[in-house]
Amino acid sequence: MKPLIIANWKCNPTTLKAAKGLFNSIQKGLRDVKKAKVVICPPFIYLSNLKISKSQNLVLGVQNVFWEQKGAFTGEISPQMLKDLGCQYVIVGHSERRKHLNETDEMINKKIKALVKAKLQPIFCVGESEEERKKGQTIQILKSQIEKGLKEISRKEIKNIVLTYEPIWAISTSTNRKDCPPEEAQMMSLLLRKILAKKYGRGGVNRTPILYGGNVNSKNIRLYIDEAQMDGVLVGGASLGSKEFLKIVKIARG
Ligand code: PEP
Repeated sequence: MKPLIIANWKCNPTTLKAAKGLFNSIQKGLRDVKKAKVVICPPFIYLSNLKISKSQNLVLGVQNVFWEQKGAFTGEISPQMLKDLGCQYVIVGHSERRKHLNETDEMINKKIKALVKAKLQPIFCVGESEEERKKGQTIQILKSQIEKGLKEISRKEIKNIVLTYEPIWAISTSTNRKDCPPEEAQMMSLLLRKILAKKYGRGGVNRTPILYGGNVNSKNIRLYIDEAQMDGVLVGGASLGSKEFLKIVKIARG
């Protein structure tokens, strides 16, 4: 499996000109990269201005979605609209939305079901806080997030979902953050696969990519891909500079 490298631009950059500049230099730098798949997730508003030239290992994603396809839902963006603009992936369950926008597991589940129905790929984020980790609740939290987030998702559908382990305490903007040791990331990815296997059967989940996210950069990418054996990474802060992001992709492809 080619490593999947996902760029989460979050609420950046603040101008269309800067977004186009960042996107174009990443696209240019990826021309000769065949052994990695890259997904850029810009803010919604820039999506239709970012043009992918053909025969690239580069596709577009976004950072959120609503669970209905159309109708009286002021301010929302539906899976169908995203599909129409050529978007393929959607981040759901990110800890920043869970925390600042009170997104619940039930809302996340509705989003995942709507995406699967529209044939878009959810990038489903799970992860524990520093406090939960200290209390020894990590396994319980991950099990509960997966159980609730994937409620009524079938064995066939799970193959089109990307699961991402993002410990909140390792995200670059978290206060008093720490790096997640690669052994711990690997242990958590094995745990996630075990949880999926219990729910769907072993054969059904081997094709579900499991990624790591939390302060990934060009200095530690090798640890997460080679040592922790993750199927890819979700990159926040370090995806906002084309040079650093391209370095990450080039190291990840091996
Ligand atoms: C994220 O929050 O999705 C993320 C991966 O952020 P960072 O890489 O900046 O820790």
